[in-house]
Amino acid sequence: MTHILIVEDEPEIRKMVCLALKNASYETSEAENSEQALRLLLDKRSDLIIIDWMLPDISGIKLIRKIRQREIHKQTPIIMLTARSEEEDKVSGLDAGADDYMTKPVSIRELLARIKALLRRSQGYENILTIAHLQLNETAHTLHIDQQLINIAYTEFKLLKFFMSHPNRVYSRNQLLDFVWGQNVFLDERTVDVHILRLRKILKTYDADKMLQTIRGIGYRFSSDLNHYV
Ligand code: CA
Repeated sequence: MTHILIVEDEPEIRKMVCLALKNASYETSEAENSEQALRLLLDKRSDLIIIDWMLPDISGIKLIRKIRQREIHKQTPIIMLTARSEEEDKVSGLDAGADDYMTKPVSIRELLARIKALLRRSQGYENILTIAHLQLNETAHTLHIDQQLINIAYTEFKLLKFFMSHPNRVYSRNQLLDFVWGQNVFLDERTVDVHILRLRKILKTYDADKMLQTIRGIGYRFSSDLNHYV
């Protein structure tokens, strides 16, 4: 499901946009300031982000720059909302890394059309995640290790994709169930262990299993920094 994050401090606008997006079958998250937005983006990758120019903590422009610094959101489409319609503002918004710009009051129909267009464009890109000698192509659904195409089952692929887009962070089995299997699925936490084991087996053949680290009493972490290995 396509996931969209909306960062806007005015609750009425935020709720209105969220509702419209949900009705258009998008999955949404809401943030009322930059700090919240950056935190949410660490837990869940967004396919598109809508950012209001005037936020209570740092400006939307600064937030875009921070988001663009993160590898997995370098190419995520961003739409900037603003109350100001000056050409100069539009230019600085686009300069900061926004892909599109809309003036308030926002027309929902126009917003949905622009979202569609941006997603069509971005999903045409090949989304490739690279960590050490692992290369995962989300678009083609393939994994290469040392340029060799690896045979990997669907669940292990999804699990690895999650880890590679969220490296260096520890996730509990429960969090992994939510993020990888989905929130409405009720599975035993041991399911995670089973698939971790399978994924490790694949990685071990290519000497990459140490990247998938067990953090005793907490969960798992994926990292190319082997000093963290427990
Ligand atoms: Ca605002």
